[in-house]
Amino acid sequence: MVAPKKPVPAGLSGASELFQLLRDGRPRTRAELADTTGLARSTVGLRLDALLELGLIRPIGEGASSGGRPPSQFALDPSARVVVGADLGATHATIAVADLSGAILLTHREALAIADGPEKVLTWVVDETRSLLAEAGRSPADLLAVGVGLPGPVEHDTGRPVNPPIMPGWDGFDVPGWIFDALGVPALVDNDVNIMAIGEQSRSFPEVSDLLFVKVATGIGSGIISGGLLQRGAQGSAGDIGHVRIERGKGVACHCGNFGCLEAMASGPAIARQVRAEGADVETMADVIDLLRRNDLRAIRAVRQAGRDIGEVLTTCVSLVNPSVIVLGGSVTRAGEHLLAGVREVVYQSSTPLATEHLSIVQSRTAENAAVIGACILALQFALSPQAIERMSAR
Ligand SMILES: [Zn+2]
Repeated sequence: MVAPKKPVPAGLSGASELFQLLRDGRPRTRAELADTTGLARSTVGLRLDALLELGLIRPIGEGASSGGRPPSQFALDPSARVVVGADLGATHATIAVADLSGAILLTHREALAIADGPEKVLTWVVDETRSLLAEAGRSPADLLAVGVGLPGPVEHDTGRPVNPPIMPGWDGFDVPGWIFDALGVPALVDNDVNIMAIGEQSRSFPEVSDLLFVKVATGIGSGIISGGLLQRGAQGSAGDIGHVRIERGKGVACHCGNFGCLEAMASGPAIARQVRAEGADVETMADVIDLLRRNDLRAIRAVRQAGRDIGEVLTTCVSLVNPSVIVLGGSVTRAGEHLLAGVREVVYQSSTPLATEHLSIVQSRTAENAAVIGACILALQFALSPQAIERMSAR
């Protein structure tokens, strides 16, 4: 039986198709590559030569480094180039340099206010990119792309923030253009929850193709990975669950102007407000977490109820997208099992058995690194795409 040929994407004919196979890092022989692609051995040879010349793959096995027999296997060379990812939060920024396998080589984190505006914040990104590259012993020419996560809505195609509520001066700012002018590489921009979903999935659940990442912090939002792909929706607001109305929220005002939103009942500030109303001396969610550690019943009740509220909205999400994993991340999830227990209680009780039979609801494993890992992966997905490899090999 002859294996069906894999269709070549329109406009692609060269080395990129082979490279997409070798991207996973598993070494393959010429014969394997010819079988999988349906290409003639001689064509495979030519395309491997092109990729070797670009330095993106390396020979592995016998005769790999010296003369003599031709190398038997080939794989991605993770150290061939690097990408940079930046996670820009409301008050802190984290930046990292990663190799082509997505492994983080160096990270730097410092206090930085997003409200200082795009010029100041992006100058920091550019300066830190240059110093991280130097520290990692890499030249600026090794950099393929930069991924950036922002704490507000972003128009994905243009990388411009759209009416971001906590980012004065950023509305419509050409983030990719600014970074390209300074560093000469493309920049990919997305909101923080989406890049957290990408980071968590790639690092902790690489085999899972249907995952919901829920960030619970000052705000509440989610990133949807369905069929292995991040879903942004028509306007990029897919997963924006913070302003869905919940039963318990009747009559409670939300900062968005509506009443009864999930965010007005189950975000960090909302939980702190409810514990305060019970007579506890707390200002912030961090204070509530301190109380939890002392087993304060008021704190436990409020956090567990917030979990149930989030579960109420997630029950609908489970019916819509049928994820196999729901990951809870963000600062409020430091409250630990109590929040998770509330979410599980409602989701497992209210969903259909078929939807929850294989559903796990877990705490983020990448924790505060989810976003910066995701920013690196976003840059990699672009830089190693068939189109990008095609452009590189055409040069
Ligand atoms: Zn609202």
